[in-house]
Amino acid sequence: MTELLVTIAETAAPTFHEERRAELIWRLWQEAGHTPKRDSAGNVLCEIAGGTGPRVVLAAHLDSVFGPEVAVSVHREPGRLRGPGVGDNAASLAVITRLLQDLSVAPVRPRLLVAATVGEEGVGDLKGARRLVEDLGECDHFVAVDGHLGVMTHRAVGSVRYETVFTGPGGHSWGDYPGPSAVHAAGAAVARLAAIHVPSDPRSSLNVGQLWGGTSINAIAERAGFNLDLRSVDPEALARLVTAAKAAVGKAAKESGCPFEMQLIGERPAATVDNEVLVSAARRALARVGLGLKLSTGSTDANIAMAQGMSAAAFGVYRGGDAHRLEEWVDPDSLPLGLRALSLLLEELATGPD
Ligand SMILES: [Zn+2]
Repeated sequence: MTELLVTIAETAAPTFHEERRAELIWRLWQEAGHTPKRDSAGNVLCEIAGGTGPRVVLAAHLDSVFGPEVAVSVHREPGRLRGPGVGDNAASLAVITRLLQDLSVAPVRPRLLVAATVGEEGVGDLKGARRLVEDLGECDHFVAVDGHLGVMTHRAVGSVRYETVFTGPGGHSWGDYPGPSAVHAAGAAVARLAAIHVPSDPRSSLNVGQLWGGTSINAIAERAGFNLDLRSVDPEALARLVTAAKAAVGKAAKESGCPFEMQLIGERPAATVDNEVLVSAARRALARVGLGLKLSTGSTDANIAMAQGMSAAAFGVYRGGDAHRLEEWVDPDSLPLGLRALSLLLEELATGPD
């Protein structure tokens, strides 16, 4: 599985540019004897023959957070594979691909649709999962294969994202001083945003992750902007956070004399659903490989299914760390264990608690 993981991880798949990795996965699944298809979003889909009982979707996202400028080579260190995206989510893709290559590891399994989805990370806004869930038809459980082994993400963190841009007349830093500056306005807005009270219960967050603007040290900035990411496990707390953020940006704009625009660039629903069947199946499956279950909240492909009220969660299949960093790593020995845990999850879903 290590070689499979390296092949997948070294095939770059920035969000919105997953084509090469999608083709690789399509080919691997076809060579494994299946009949994969593509949908209009770019997802790779594969109905698995056989299986009994409930119909289950396994979905692993294709894309990684790293742009086309990042070299995605994998370095082999003792007990570790290191490289951008090697875990999130190349490791999950490797595990489900291995499952498809040898279904005898999961002899007892539900009826399965396996998918590799586009647009999960960043501003992809769960594009692939949206298409997948919309086209799904009958489905009892939706399992996003994502995250660390032993962890099930059972509640959907909602997020709202805005690109905020300030504009001004610009001019010379001496001759036109003190004209309105878009950079000063953006800075004032960020300071106001950072001062907003963000509740810890229900857990919520506010982050300005990127900031840009201006043209020169001696020019008053004509344009400046930033990306804002707001999250909460509670839809109402999220709505309050959005209201407070808009007010903070509006105040900064008024004081600085620079008009602004806040463009919604992402919206993922917060949701809590009845997924106890999935959670207890995961707990039993992990116990059979000697692991405990840790429940967490997060934003994954399962958010979209949860927002439809479906039984959905994300299940992790590898050990690693530093996701979304260039130094990301995976313990290659954890992959067979992750495959075993996933196979047992399928068995538990097919047979139920008895
Ligand atoms: Zn992921």
